[in-house]
Amino acid sequence: MGIKFSRQRQCIIEYLKSTKEHPTAEMVYRYVQKEYPNISLGTVYRNLKLLTEQGQIKRLYCGDACERFDSDIKEHNHVICKNCGRVLDLYMEPFDHINTLARAHFSGQIEGHVTYFYGICQECLDIDNSNEQL
Ligand code: ZN
Ligand code: MN
Repeated sequence: MGIKFSRQRQCIIEYLKSTKEHPTAEMVYRYVQKEYPNISLGTVYRNLKLLTEQGQIKRLYCGDACERFDSDIKEHNHVICKNCGRVLDLYMEPFDHINTLARAHFSGQIEGHVTYFYGICQECLDIDNSNEQL
């Protein structure tokens, strides 16, 4: 691992910390490319994987085909807006007792769960409401 490699990784972390968008690997790639035009998508993927394994970032499962990444590693949930497709943060009481519920009905080993919420975000609701008033 050379210095260049670390700088690129630093650039990825800084980008993730600067945004609330929960970017996909493609979005990270497009951003880092501005500073490091020669970087490959494969390198971005490798760095995202490494950062995830190190626990510096989180990989999100949002029900769509593409993975998204989050620099906020605190426990929180996400809501996907069906209208604009954005992935929004949701801080709420933990519901890890569903693991206990699942274990009661499963003979194997339950290690965790993946939950995402979907609906319409406030911004999309606001746009919809202002259109109706026209
Ligand atoms: Zn929306
Ligand atoms: Mn988040």
